[in-house]
Amino acid sequence: MIDKGGMTEVGGVEEAPSLSHAEVNQLWAKFRAGDTILCAKDAHGIALAVDGAAKAYRLVCTKCGISSPWFGTTPSGLVFRVPRANSSRSNGSK
Ligand SMILES: [Zn+2]
Repeated sequence: MIDKGGMTEVGGVEEAPSLSHAEVNQLWAKFRAGDTILCAKDAHGIALAVDGAAKAYRLVCTKCGISSPWFGTTPSGLVFRVPRANSSRSNGSK
């Protein structure tokens, strides 16, 4: 008999909630306009994390921990950094 009791949580890959690209674009637009940006789930303040070396930004809710992918800013908009190969479902033909 296999003992499956007591599943221990190994610190590792946790499925963290994340903001969609559209949400990040909206939040970033508000942020740049000088508005306070709030989490859509709990209306808590969202903090901006900055990676100065990579010139990348990230939005993180200080309460629920929902976060955006890292992104860079370009004149034409935000460019999201995808940490690993991730087939986009909306990769349709233009
Ligand atoms: Zn939140």
